[in-house]
Amino acid sequence: MIDILIIGGGASGLAAAVFSKQTAPAAETVIAERLPRTGKKILSTGNGRCNLGNLRLSRDNYHGSVDAMDVISRTPSAEEFFRSLGVLTFSDEQGRLYPYSGAAATVLNALRQRAEALGVREECGFAVSDIAQKKDCWLVRAEDGRMLECRRLIIAAGGHADPKSGTDGTMLRILRDMGYQAAKCCPAVAPLKTDPALLKGLKGIRARCRVEAVAEGKHLHTEEGEIQFTETMLSGICVFNMAWLWGRYGEKLRISTDLAPDMSHDEIYSYLREVRDMSGGAPVSELLSGMFRKELALYLTKAALRKKDIPRISRLTDSDLSQVADTVKRLSFPVTGCAPWQNAQSTYGGIKASCIGSDMSSKLHKNLWFCGEIADTAGDCGGYNLQWAWSSGILAGTNAALSLKGGKR
Ligand SMILES: Cc1cc2nc3c(=O)[nH]c(=O)nc-3n(C[C@H](O)[C@H](O)[C@H](O)COP(=O)(O)OP(=O)(O)OC[C@H]3O[C@@H](n4cnc5c(N)ncnc54)[C@H](O)[C@@H]3O)c2cc1C
Repeated sequence: MIDILIIGGGASGLAAAVFSKQTAPAAETVIAERLPRTGKKILSTGNGRCNLGNLRLSRDNYHGSVDAMDVISRTPSAEEFFRSLGVLTFSDEQGRLYPYSGAAATVLNALRQRAEALGVREECGFAVSDIAQKKDCWLVRAEDGRMLECRRLIIAAGGHADPKSGTDGTMLRILRDMGYQAAKCCPAVAPLKTDPALLKGLKGIRARCRVEAVAEGKHLHTEEGEIQFTETMLSGICVFNMAWLWGRYGEKLRISTDLAPDMSHDEIYSYLREVRDMSGGAPVSELLSGMFRKELALYLTKAALRKKDIPRISRLTDSDLSQVADTVKRLSFPVTGCAPWQNAQSTYGGIKASCIGSDMSSKLHKNLWFCGEIADTAGDCGGYNLQWAWSSGILAGTNAALSLKGGKR
């Protein structure tokens, strides 16, 4: 019988495998992975560069019932973890950590090589469809009827995001049937949908801005960065970090953009008055052309002046100019949905804290642990999700192994 079986060979499953085998070297440790190889998602992280952690970690970066920072604070940092695997890292000005090589493949190779050197066995092409506890062991069945039996089970099967890398939420369904409470899932680190009529003329535009999420008259969250407009969605990292709010507020959510965050309304207004004084016979379409790219300038002027048909800048009143300054500072979009799972990087929701102990063990079943995205916590964009995957995997793997020896950390 297998001593420790890990369902899912992604980021958290590989970290769990390395730490369980380091803690209990004699224990037979196996990863059951549905895809032909482990770690597929890791290769596409950080646009192939793998943003594997962040030096500036705080509770504000995690959303959900599980206290991610409590787990992270009790495990090695991402820098230390990868140094112990022989991988050097560097950080950028926002504290984001990357492998020194700049290649996600370095991260995956190091994890797989260490797991292999320690003697972790991989059962690939094993898509778990059912698990059951029988006395002191777990029976884990695959879709094709194969069966594995183990003493300790770690579930590291991820959430729903990016289903092409093996994560379709099967394990969450199985766990719900076993009595686990799971917070409703929605895409996190993903674009948000809005009314396509409001995006006419904005498609393809990228702009530096401050973005604010509001609902029920309350300010919820602010981010600065580059927003990207598509035909149907608001995109860019600053929007990605607000996607989880869709899960909480639904259609009450609005996204408001400030396209000149370093200027006040009055500064923009005075500038527009100068433009009017210098305008000669210039058409209204040129009003914001000294401030924004042509398409965005035109969109903002039209949005501010609505249906007014004013041909020349010189004919604009002070009130018209103030309205244009208002629109630059506050362009608001209703949120009508979230991008599909295919476009999401993480999952908001999952197994609730009420079912998971602080050592990542199950509160409902003996000899069962969880790690990674399957738990109800979603990190912001910037290395926070992988940091959670490594830390929760390390803790689950260590504790599953210690339990074989009768201990826990
Ligand atoms: C495109 C993209 C880019 C990203 N970039 C970053 C980044 O730069 N930084 C960052 O911090 N985060 C990033 N993330 C998020 C991060 O990759 C995930 O949060 C993290 O990989 C989750 O780890 P996990 O182990 O919980 O799940 P996963 O890594 O998703 O692994 C789960 C594994 O379980 C397997 N599995 C699922 N169900 C079954 C089953 N029934 N039977 C057997 N096996 C099963 C899957 O095939 C998969 O291999 C990115 C995500 C995506 C999609």
